[in-house]
Amino acid sequence: MSPAVLYRRLPGEGLPGFIAEFRKAAARDPFGTAFVVPTSHLAREIVRRIGEEGVPLVADAITTLPGLARKVFIEHATAETLIPEAGSRLIIDRLLAAGDYPLIARTGAVDELATLFAVLITRKIDYPAALGDLASAKSAEIGRLFAAYLRFLDEHRLVDESTLLARATRLLAGSDEFRTVYVYGLFEPVPLERDLLLALRESAVEFHYAIPYAANPAAFADEGLWLHPDAVVAGERTSEVAGLFSRRETGRVDLIRLAERRDRLDEVRAIAQEIRDLAAAGVRPGEIAVAFPDLASAVPYVEEVFPDFGVPYAVSAGRPLSASPLVQTLLSVLAVPARGYRREDVIGLLTTPYLPFTRGSGIDILSREARITAGADAWDDRLAALARALEDDLAGPEPAKDRLATKIASIEAAREEVRGLFADLAVLEGKKTVREHIAAYRSLLDRWQAPVMPAEGDTRVLEDEARDLGGFAEALNTLERLARLLPEQKMPLPEFFSLLGILVAGTRAGRRRNANAVQVIGVRETAHLAVPHLFIGDLVEGTMPRLTTRLPFATDLETRRLQTRSKSDILREERYHFIAALLSARTRVYLSYPAADGSAPLVRSGFVDAVREAFSPETWGNGDFPASRLAAARRAGGLLARGEAASPPVLTAAEAVRRLNIENYHRKGGYDSPYDGLIGGDPALAERFGEEAVFSVTALETYADCPFRFYLEQVLGLAPLPPADPDLTGEERGSLVHRIAFRFYSGWRRDGNGAVTEASYPDALRRILATGREEADRFTFESPAWVAGKEHLLGSAAAGPGLLERFLRHEAEVAVSGLLPQAFEVSFGLPVTAGEADAASIPDAVAIPLGEETLHLRGRIDRVDLLPGGRFVVTDYKTGNRRPTLGEVVAGKELQLPLYIRAVETLTGMQGVAGTCYTLRRGEVRNRPIFWNAGLKDCFTCFPGSRQSGVEDVRELVETSLAGVKQYLAGIRGGCFPPRSDAGPCPAYCGFRTVCRFDGLRLLAAGGEVDVDGTD
Ligand code: SF4
Repeated sequence: MSPAVLYRRLPGEGLPGFIAEFRKAAARDPFGTAFVVPTSHLAREIVRRIGEEGVPLVADAITTLPGLARKVFIEHATAETLIPEAGSRLIIDRLLAAGDYPLIARTGAVDELATLFAVLITRKIDYPAALGDLASAKSAEIGRLFAAYLRFLDEHRLVDESTLLARATRLLAGSDEFRTVYVYGLFEPVPLERDLLLALRESAVEFHYAIPYAANPAAFADEGLWLHPDAVVAGERTSEVAGLFSRRETGRVDLIRLAERRDRLDEVRAIAQEIRDLAAAGVRPGEIAVAFPDLASAVPYVEEVFPDFGVPYAVSAGRPLSASPLVQTLLSVLAVPARGYRREDVIGLLTTPYLPFTRGSGIDILSREARITAGADAWDDRLAALARALEDDLAGPEPAKDRLATKIASIEAAREEVRGLFADLAVLEGKKTVREHIAAYRSLLDRWQAPVMPAEGDTRVLEDEARDLGGFAEALNTLERLARLLPEQKMPLPEFFSLLGILVAGTRAGRRRNANAVQVIGVRETAHLAVPHLFIGDLVEGTMPRLTTRLPFATDLETRRLQTRSKSDILREERYHFIAALLSARTRVYLSYPAADGSAPLVRSGFVDAVREAFSPETWGNGDFPASRLAAARRAGGLLARGEAASPPVLTAAEAVRRLNIENYHRKGGYDSPYDGLIGGDPALAERFGEEAVFSVTALETYADCPFRFYLEQVLGLAPLPPADPDLTGEERGSLVHRIAFRFYSGWRRDGNGAVTEASYPDALRRILATGREEADRFTFESPAWVAGKEHLLGSAAAGPGLLERFLRHEAEVAVSGLLPQAFEVSFGLPVTAGEADAASIPDAVAIPLGEETLHLRGRIDRVDLLPGGRFVVTDYKTGNRRPTLGEVVAGKELQLPLYIRAVETLTGMQGVAGTCYTLRRGEVRNRPIFWNAGLKDCFTCFPGSRQSGVEDVRELVETSLAGVKQYLAGIRGGCFPPRSDAGPCPAYCGFRTVCRFDGLRLLAAGGEVDVDGTD
């Protein structure tokens, strides 16, 4: 055994001396000298320092303990294979899939089991025996799986990242490979690591071991006695910082500065600004490091802020491959057939820029209309059914015919493309071995020449994509290599897809290294570095210290029984890493923490309080960000707006001010500019919506509710994407009920019947149910929702009387009113198709005089009932929740009933006396008069809920509505399209909610509602 010298050193202390000694030894014996450090980052840094001196080195001579174990294994193991971490996960996944582990086989179990097994192996825990009386059925099952896992490694001569340490220890026994060994800075090695270190000591001629140590038990507990050193050299340096947490008296430490920032974004901006200030003072970016306790969650902030401040940076950890959009696309090629050709998966594939498809958005819309949800066959069947339905409509008028023909052609093209795509994807399906799956997948990507990589663009993005692609190709290679080790077994595509998913989730993309950039690293990577300027951010409770002690699949009690790490062990370790990070700073360390995360306050780390108490640090940073390009642009805008700065050459001052005013002035207060939809009179508007234009009631009501929605729909011709609804939509439910009511009553009346009464009820019921069944059978849905919907329509023993039966019952109840159902689906200004509209329908619009102008109206009236004396009632069927109120009619927001009354009056010369709304839905079947002539009490009081809606003069009410229409026409023709004037939430049915910039708070801030013409 070699004499071992133990050096107790503060973190980072004496490292240059160790490096110098190592260099001398390596020059004497390059292949027999090793230098072991705790992190790859530190290993690279030492290699860089030595490289700068021009000293040649053997590759991997400076490494981590796992790195050294790997080197030993690669050089000596002949019959075994080392598998990556992802390989362990694959094996666990295969064992779970094949074995009988019902208590632990669940989503996410593979990752947790892999973590647990690594702890059990490296800490040499005899599981589940170590649990003693805490053992349970679950721990027995985990124990069986653990044993199966180790057996699998053994039988297939595999070594994983954890068993590697033990394997390397055995391989080193009796060897004299490493004659001089330097170990620096390992913090409390676990049992398997200690074994390897002792084996190194055993085989080496010289063994130097520097342990991070200070007389501060709050952070340093390992004195290295387990090494049985022959000599112990105490450290020479003392440090106030190393005594942190020890409650010792300390003085002011000028090294440290502290700042609280508003939130994480503000914190990273402040760091970026400070870096720019340092750079302005001559500090090189490579002399600065920014450390975060949780690097992965901080990187997105850094990626957003540092480029804005022009700070060059390099992140030490690559991002997970599964977060790459390119990799997600490549995986989605498998996901489409593996998940049964789901609509959203197929559309995702067809619309991604990384694959050579171009018709994705068109197919998206058609697939929604065709009600496709999933299933390779359903795609073609439903698209074909959609085309057939349109072909049936080809008998219509000429312009519609052309439109339909074009649409049918595009459906055929979509079918062709989808058929081709599915034929390609079909080669991926079926049971295959992993290698066969990979071969089929690669061959398909080759044939598609995928992924399509952009030739130009943001260099950083292009580099990232190239790296992601390389990482993905390597992941496939790894899986192929592992497949050779796993039993040759065929598996269906979903299983292969899940295997590849596991591998990709556990793989990180390569990283961009640049020693001349600001280093963005994890706090644990800072130990022993020598960083002139160090920032440590995000110091909040739960992030640092992070006191998670629980092992996966173990309770607190079980974790304690397994004697892994107690809470105080973890706290000590967190304190150590914090102290080691502080000690790595040479000139200054800038600590910071965010006060809130969005609106949720954050608790600053107890470590910050400890620093405050011990060292009374000064603060750093202020609220200004002069180096931010975004902030600069905002400032420049302000100067331009005030005329205090010359405009950039490409932009006149007036133009710049105009643009600024759009946001800062026009989008505040009342609606008063073109940016609020007040676009002013336009000849094109006058022509399109002038005297001869025909309006529907729906369009006018849309304008009445929200002129901006009218503008989007009627002027720009925009329409929201149709919902991808596999069942009956609200609109279809409405048409179904309308059609049944129309067919029933037109046949009923044609056969000489009057209103439905108690006497005629049985016959009426038989007829309406027959019609209802016929109409419902036209739909081919099979979903449970549709089956239930049909039952609620037609009734059943289980569901009770259906909607149609309740409709007739209500009809019989109000028959005493004397109203006689007369006409159904009376249309005007629309094509008249026999059998679908009342015989009184006309193709021409109805001309309704509005004083000196005329309203040309088109529409379809659900039902007209007659009263003696040439009087009539207009009824509207509603199958949704909403029904109009008298107040809305008076306010000119609900126009349908008054305008339809006037249309019938114009066409027939009769007198409208009421407008009713017939609610026909599962929870309610009721005809409710919205307004009625108060002189006709005998007729209307039999209608439930009619007491409040009698009006003195229906004609006057209609005239009020027409006055409103006149105003709306003027608004439309005058180009006045502001968003709705009600500060309350927009209606849920507005399909433009996701794109509209309506802001209710703006109206409130403007001091109330805004008139339709834009004035407050
Ligand atoms: S979201 Fe509101 S303001 Fe915008 S278009 Fe729809 S209804 Fe009008």
